[in-house]
Amino acid sequence: MRRVVGIEEWRRLAEDQRLAGRRVGLVPTMGALHAGHRSLVAAARANGDFVIMTIFVNPRQFNDPADLRAYPRAPESDRALAESFGVDALVEPTMAEMWPSYPEPTPTTVSVAGLGDVLEGAGRPGHFDGVASVVAKLAIVTGPSRAYFGEKDFQQLAVVRRMVLDLGLDVEVVGCAIVRDEDGLALSSRNVRLDAQARARALSLSRALALAAEHGGPASALREVMRATMVAADVVVGYADVVDPVTLEPLGDDATGRARALVAGVVDGVRLIDNREIELRKGR
Ligand code: AMP
Repeated sequence: MRRVVGIEEWRRLAEDQRLAGRRVGLVPTMGALHAGHRSLVAAARANGDFVIMTIFVNPRQFNDPADLRAYPRAPESDRALAESFGVDALVEPTMAEMWPSYPEPTPTTVSVAGLGDVLEGAGRPGHFDGVASVVAKLAIVTGPSRAYFGEKDFQQLAVVRRMVLDLGLDVEVVGCAIVRDEDGLALSSRNVRLDAQARARALSLSRALALAAEHGGPASALREVMRATMVAADVVVGYADVVDPVTLEPLGDDATGRARALVAGVVDGVRLIDNREIELRKGR
């Protein structure tokens, strides 16, 4: 596995691969790697890509400085894990190259209005501006044929897809299924901050989604079921919503067919999110 820090070396490495006729697959992460990240690398390898993983804890997507400070960092073990996943080149860009003005604000921002303002965006103002800005920069420097993102961050995937469309970036965005622990908890770098009791309460998120999927509708009833399930586990609910899978607009009680249920909650100060595809059925 090649290791790269400087932006020019990183650009050249990707360029060399393209000139050699290979397709570059980009896997952007914030580190503290787990099997969810591994699945993205596996998808890129299955497509035959030269896999470039980036690890960069992007301060611009944290609206809460305490959350940024508490974000898990494990550079040493991440390097070993990335290699074991089959990453071809690991890029760990410096802050000075990613955001030269930091900690002062960066004047250039990519913003996806609408999609970036609801759900996560409503509770974390500026979050998706930070996400869109960093993903744009990672993609521009790397020039990948494909970029891989987890459905775990479903709204992020929607925001990135829209940004790629609007900016005309020549990259295929590939969404990958959520990887869960055996008990149903969606893998997340933040899970290491949960003790056994908090973890048990955190399971109410995936349970809420499973109950919503069984229930089948109408949408307002699903919202109530999900919220009640999380509240019963003493989770501070951020949102529990049922939306159109592309526009992320909330669905009314007359909606049927494919929808996405999304939940967010805080357990012992740790913010968790999860989501699931659901089928809203007629005649209920
Ligand atoms: P992060 O390091 O948390 O920013 O995540 C980097 C990428 O891994 C994002 O595209 C995430 O959606 C994806 N990811 C994180 N957790 C999971 C998971 N449990 N299953 C699938 N993808 C995930």
